[in-house]
Amino acid sequence: MASQRQGGGEFTKQAERMPRCQRCGATGVGRLATGSPVFCCAGCALAVRVPRDAEGNFPANAALGVALGIGLLAFNQVLLSSLVWTTAGGADRWRTASWILGLVAGIVLFATHWRVGAGRAAELLVGAAVALGWTVAIRTSSVGLGLAITGTYILWSLRGLLRAVKRSGDPI
Ligand SMILES: [Zn+2]
Repeated sequence: MASQRQGGGEFTKQAERMPRCQRCGATGVGRLATGSPVFCCAGCALAVRVPRDAEGNFPANAALGVALGIGLLAFNQVLLSSLVWTTAGGADRWRTASWILGLVAGIVLFATHWRVGAGRAAELLVGAAVALGWTVAIRTSSVGLGLAITGTYILWSLRGLLRAVKRSGDPI
């Protein structure tokens, strides 16, 4: 792969122009009008924007706030869903509240991916699948499906963390 750069062919020029995730180097990411660094997913953006130092400390910044907010929404969705199953009364109220939290978490995740420049086509497709899933969950009064959707969407948003970090000297 290193010889591609020395070759100087059209392929190499195209590869250099192609936007890549700043953390893992994945292709298929979008391009931001602001020229800001782009990431394949919220996980990679979080890993770069909330760096840990040698002692394990990390800065409290907006990216960390958004991540904690999504985590809190998802946690409370689980909590309220469990109330639907375990309490005798008020199931409808807990169910609606759990759905609202899950929907807000999904919207924040979608907006986060849009802001960090994740691949537009894939995000639209996944966003449409999430919206469809929520329609089914609400029509069938399923809190379990709501939980599955939120959990799966969060895992999708962290997928870049499964890839190794791109070192600066690596050929791209
Ligand atoms: Zn990435």
